[in-house]
Amino acid sequence: MNYQQILSDILNQTEPLAGEGCQADYIPALAEVNPDQRGICLHTLEGKQYAVGDADVRFSIQSISKVFALAMALSLEGDDLWRRMGKEPSGTAFNSLFQLEMERGVPRNPFINAGAIVMADILVTHLLDPEHDFLAFVRQLSGCDTIDYNRTVAFSERSTGYLNAAIANLLKYHGNIHNDIERVLQFYCMMCSIEMSCCELAQAFLPFADHRRPFKFGKVQLTSSQVKRMNAIMQTCGFYDEAGEFSYLVGLPGKSGVGGGIAAIYPQRYAVAVWSPRLNPKGNSVVGMKVLELLTTETKESIF
Ligand code: GLN
Repeated sequence: MNYQQILSDILNQTEPLAGEGCQADYIPALAEVNPDQRGICLHTLEGKQYAVGDADVRFSIQSISKVFALAMALSLEGDDLWRRMGKEPSGTAFNSLFQLEMERGVPRNPFINAGAIVMADILVTHLLDPEHDFLAFVRQLSGCDTIDYNRTVAFSERSTGYLNAAIANLLKYHGNIHNDIERVLQFYCMMCSIEMSCCELAQAFLPFADHRRPFKFGKVQLTSSQVKRMNAIMQTCGFYDEAGEFSYLVGLPGKSGVGGGIAAIYPQRYAVAVWSPRLNPKGNSVVGMKVLELLTTETKESIF
């Protein structure tokens, strides 16, 4: 498969979408990013890398970090994790409150904000220095030591994140946060603020594409069944209330973030990351969705 040619054709085909959608500005620091950047990188399990556009520019991975948090939380808690959250698609926005209230503080899944805030709480409970361990894990996964938090973005989100604070308070009220709320939110915002390029993200997602190889990165260890099941959760819950649409158009497990990134996996073949900051109304990258739809359509490669 000539992925290089395919990716560059696909990027050209997204040209008519230029200017469509808006970048996230509810986190003020994200509004400062040039919204008209686009990059794609695909890494195969055989070790080949194909990149086009702004694939080496780092961006705020935001909710894509929830995949890394889930790997750590599962490694620490195993199936006990599911006592504190579900694994069902939410059908609601990533920062929705009403379902959490109706379901008495048990988040639907790990990939909505409520679920990720509970995972942040779990990591704060288990780890002496969660910020250090989380970053070390992401650096190891991607093989890149210069990946870092963006403290300006984290602070910008923490100082304006009233909805996430409401979610954390509701969780705490229902006994599903064990640590100090402020500490948990601070760590949650740090996780979201990590900056990576498409190439680094594709590399970091590769181990999730291969459940046959041992998943062991420092202290984070997952069984092959856990890796497979993480793919299942990405497939059903990776795109909030657009998970069905992504599954329909693209047919791969994946995860998006409001920084405009999407990482997706073709099990046993490749991991791919796309970035373009302009989002659709559901908070997913307009160009990112189109690129992945075209990729699986033109290559006729998807899990279905
Ligand atoms: N940090 C963002 C938030 O909590 C992440 C949301 C996202 O990427 N969908 O609102």
